Formats: sequence, structure tokens, C-alpha cells
Amino acid sequence: MSRLIPHSRPTLGQDDVRAVARVVASGMHAQGAQVRSFEEKFRKFLEVPGAVATSSGTAALHLALMALDVGRGDEVILPTYVCTALLNAVLYVGARPRLADIEEGDLNISVRDVQKKITRKTKAIIVPHMFGFPADIRAIANLGIPVIEDCAQAIGASFHGKPVGRWGAIGIFSFYATKMMSTGEGGMVVSSARRILDRVRDLRDYDEKQRYRLRFNYKMTDFQAALGVTQLAKLPAFIKRRKILADCYQNHLESSDLKLPVARASAKPVFFRYVVQLDRSKDAVLKGLRQHRICCRLPVYRPLHAYLNERGFPVADSVFKRALSLPIYPSLNGKDVEWICRQLTAML
Ligand SMILES: *Cc1c(COP(=O)(O)O)cnc(C)c1O
Repeated sequence: MSRLIPHSRPTLGQDDVRAVARVVASGMHAQGAQVRSFEEKFRKFLEVPGAVATSSGTAALHLALMALDVGRGDEVILPTYVCTALLNAVLYVGARPRLADIEEGDLNISVRDVQKKITRKTKAIIVPHMFGFPADIRAIANLGIPVIEDCAQAIGASFHGKPVGRWGAIGIFSFYATKMMSTGEGGMVVSSARRILDRVRDLRDYDEKQRYRLRFNYKMTDFQAALGVTQLAKLPAFIKRRKILADCYQNHLESSDLKLPVARASAKPVFFRYVVQLDRSKDAVLKGLRQHRICCRLPVYRPLHAYLNERGFPVADSVFKRALSLPIYPSLNGKDVEWICRQLTAML
């Protein structure tokens, strides 16, 4: 029987294990020197004035909305074709989610649909760079409404030569186990506004404050941060390796009927996911690949409008029906990609 090929895997080495073990053994586990060091290295990596670590990407999104004073009576625009973490964050602050359809090309939020959904109550737009492919963030940032860039899937990607995370009022990141780099669970908020960074820093920690207000426990631990430091150092190599594997997929699949991922002009993607679209429903192929022990996934489990019983998202509906996410991560090898492509094309 053939070997099981997982859909995603963190890339871990002895350096990661040693770094975490050292902090665990030190007995200094809570947010402290390691978190400060990770924040500083992340800040330098992205060349931003400040970075604040959090317990997850969801926590980062929640604090980003709070830092922008988004609350009851406000509307937040977000794409429908995305995980529920974004919807949750909007609902945590009591705002109303306004869903937008996506673009056929790179599966990111449609600028045209965003423009249609803007009202007097629109307080923020959340723009995820889906599957590692930069959205048209320049056009959206120019609409004059504060933008939260969700870079959970796209750390290291850039648009017009400028890294994602630096275009919006706030950028957020996730270091969940399956993301571009892993701290198990973890997140980061970046901004160039001192006021926003100070608020996020204040809100993530409830203890030892002069004045009471509603705050959270959204801190990262020091052993997670130690892993963040070693993972961040290897991120450029991870990105290179993903690009090689994506090229490998492209070579094997470009003569098939599949629609392959495309980045928009002037966008440099990081291939967090390799999402292909069939010319029909993906269900049979997904099942067939599982029988060959190749784990593929739905790129998005269910679009948000399906949960909310809303209609009018034709592109997301069509993509949801036909899209499939193939395994891609630095420890996957070229032979695996070849094998996956052979099984996949045989089923088309
Ligand atoms: C994973 C993810 C999140 C949530 O991050 P967590 O660390 O899992 O809370 C938010 N947005 C996008 C686009 C994601 O992929």
C-alpha cells in the first residue's frame, strides 16, 4: 500500500526542538523575554514600526477590530470564501458582517463587490490574502475605509514589491500548526500607528492595570515565541521550497483541464495552498485521491454565506463546488508531487 500523504505538515528541525526545550526547562513559560524577542525579529522581518504577539490569529483579528473601535451598529466587509475565524471576530465585537463575493482569478475578495457593499456604517474591511496570493490590496486601501489585512496565509508575499501586512491600517498573522510557519497556536498584529499598537498590547493582557476595562487573555507563551524565532529564521527557505513544489505541480498539470492557481499582475505569492479547479464537482476526485492515500481538502470548508443563509455570491458558489486543495509544504518532495499529479490526471 502506498504511503499516506498528508494535506499539510509543519516543518520542524532539531533547532526548533532545542529552542522550545530550553525555554521549557528554564521554567520561564509565560509571556516574557522570548515573546519580546520574537516581536522584535518579526518587526524587523516585515520592516514595520511595531508588532504585538497574540495567542492566535483569531485573537489578533479580534484585537485589531477593537483597536479600530469597531462595535455595535458598525458594519465590516469581508469575503464569503474564507474560514469562520473572520466571521467570529466580527461578531465578537458586535458588528454586522457584510459579505462580498470573490474574484475568479486569484479567489480573493472582489473589489467591485466591496464597493457595492459599502454603506455609511462601514467601519472596516477585512482583506485576507487567500492561499498565499496577494489580493488587490492597493485598490481596497484606496477606498478610504480602514483595512485589516489578514495575512494568516500569506506571510512573505508581496504586491508591487511591498510585503503584505504593510498596506492596511493593521496587518494580522497566524502561526497555527498548518500555516506558513508554526508556533502550534499563535498570532501577530502589526501596524505603523503607535496608538493601535498600544491598544492591542493593553487589551491582550488583563493583569496589573490602573483602570478597569474589558480586556482579554490573548498572550503568547515564551516557548511558543522561541519556536516562532527559529521558524521565522527558516521562513525564506520554506517559501523557496513551496515555490519549487508549485512549479512542479504546474509542469505536471498545465496540459490538463484543471484551472491552476494564478497570481494577479505585480503580486508575488507564497503558495500556502495549491488550489486547483475542476470543470465539474470535485467530490468524486476528492474521494478517489483519498483512496490512493493522498489527503486533499476543501480550500474553504463552507463559504460564510452558506452558514448565514445569504444568496448572491455566484463566483464563490462556483469555486466552492469545483475547487480542491492539493498537498503542499516544504517537507513534501518532488516525487510525491509527481505521484499526486499522476493519480489526479488519471481521474479527470
Ligand atoms: C487560520 C486563519 C485565521 C485564524 O487563525 P488562527 O490562528 O487559527 O486563529 C484567520 N484568517 C485566515 C485567512 C486564516 O487562514
